[in-house]
Amino acid sequence: MFEEDRLDDLDYAAERSEAFTESALRSVLGRMAGAPSSGVCRSCTDTIETERLRANPMARQCRSCAAEEEYLRHRSRRCGPREN
Ligand SMILES: [Zn+2]
Repeated sequence: MFEEDRLDDLDYAAERSEAFTESALRSVLGRMAGAPSSGVCRSCTDTIETERLRANPMARQCRSCAAEEEYLRHRSRRCGPREN
């Protein structure tokens, strides 16, 4: 019975330290490259996909807006900046 209590405590401690490591990692990453994402696309104000945020916690745009911006960036690099 005593042994079981100890194991429960260890499980709990392990869970806690995992959560702490993840949030600590996020805050370190945030200091390195700006604040973590708010989870809202800055272009269309839609919610950014969870998968995308998991891959890049600092994502500022949803998948489609990021793809569009990437496309425009490549195009302007090839043709030079130009007003329409
Ligand atoms: Zn968007």
